[in-house]
Amino acid sequence: MTESTIFTAPAAAFDAVVIGAGPVGLACALEARRRGLRVCVIDKGALVNSLVGYPTNMEFFSTPELLEIGGYPFPTNHYKPLREDALDYYRRVATSENLTLRLYERVLALEGTPGAYAVVTEKGRLTARYVIVATGFFDVPNRLEVPGADLPHVSYYYKEPYAHVGRSVVVIGAKNSAAKAALQLVRAGAQVTLVVRGAAISESVKYWIRPDLINRIAEGRIRALFTTTVVAISAESVQVLTPEGPQTLPADFVYALTGYRPDYSLLAALGITFQQDVARTPSHNPETFETNRAGVYVAGTVCGGLNTSRWFIENGRHHAAVIAAQLTAVTAA
Ligand SMILES: Cc1cc2nc3c(=O)[nH]c(=O)nc-3n(C[C@H](O)[C@H](O)[C@H](O)COP(=O)(O)OP(=O)(O)OC[C@H]3O[C@@H](n4cnc5c(N)ncnc54)[C@H](O)[C@@H]3O)c2cc1C
Repeated sequence: MTESTIFTAPAAAFDAVVIGAGPVGLACALEARRRGLRVCVIDKGALVNSLVGYPTNMEFFSTPELLEIGGYPFPTNHYKPLREDALDYYRRVATSENLTLRLYERVLALEGTPGAYAVVTEKGRLTARYVIVATGFFDVPNRLEVPGADLPHVSYYYKEPYAHVGRSVVVIGAKNSAAKAALQLVRAGAQVTLVVRGAAISESVKYWIRPDLINRIAEGRIRALFTTTVVAISAESVQVLTPEGPQTLPADFVYALTGYRPDYSLLAALGITFQQDVARTPSHNPETFETNRAGVYVAGTVCGGLNTSRWFIENGRHHAAVIAAQLTAVTAA
């Protein structure tokens, strides 16, 4: 089979449809395929779409073997792989296995009954006995709820610093993404102000990034405002409230790197409820990953709900074997 036929899978009946072609969705498809099931992976965007959206040359915090799926070695001479290494790796795995993929096709809803589901997409319907939902968390940013939050120079995704040389940039947030962006931007010659709601840089920032950021703040290369909230954004500035009172920060560009959340409207359209806990955890059996809807499973980051750091590639990839074993146990019964 050539690559082009792999990526134009026909509409057909499948044993399992995996929604989401991220690392965990692909791992689920590999495991189910190896157990003899006919599987289709469907994604609203590109293959490993979330990783495509990560910053250019982003360094993973995981070492390569912890990102591997399907038993394929992750060949790289980097101790920590870059985004580009991972994009190449997951592409090679998907094509090596001739996975059936439908890309750039958004799933809208799930109809039917257990054993006879219809995955409704913007282009048609796929029938499947089982559905695995591996839709991650990267599509819905935690938007600022202030005037100007959707102006064109405000972004919830950071890619690279080069468009901002010599410009004023306000970065909002205090975790890994905000820390890395602030450091890259200042090193590329932007004037960076970091706006932090808490009293300090988050303790959860990786141990090799946190001191770098704290030292750049201490030497005055990055201006940081702690215990500060954003009040409004206009075309050229950000209004904030600091402990000393209101301030107006010059801002040619604004990065609000304040995290992401699963797409709860999609989960509702798939008939998946969530628990009444702080994380709004999608309802599922933690042993089997089966949701409140029989034959419908969750896998990967989406399992943690608002706790988006509960599951990541390193640990989420192991959901695949557990779920595949469930599907074949049910099929064999
Ligand atoms: C900057 C950054 C660095 C990270 N570094 C690491 C690391 O070093 N190690 C690690 O283990 N983890 C890391 N993570 C976390 C990790 O990338 C995620 O946990 C991982 O992508 C989860 O994989 P997933 O398959 O569950 O979800 P995702 O990779 O997010 O895949 C979900 C897929 O579902 C698709 N989708 C969503 N809605 C629909 C729809 N309606 N219809 C069809 N498709 C849909 C999306 O397009 C996407 O391709 C990092 C995350 C970020 C943001």
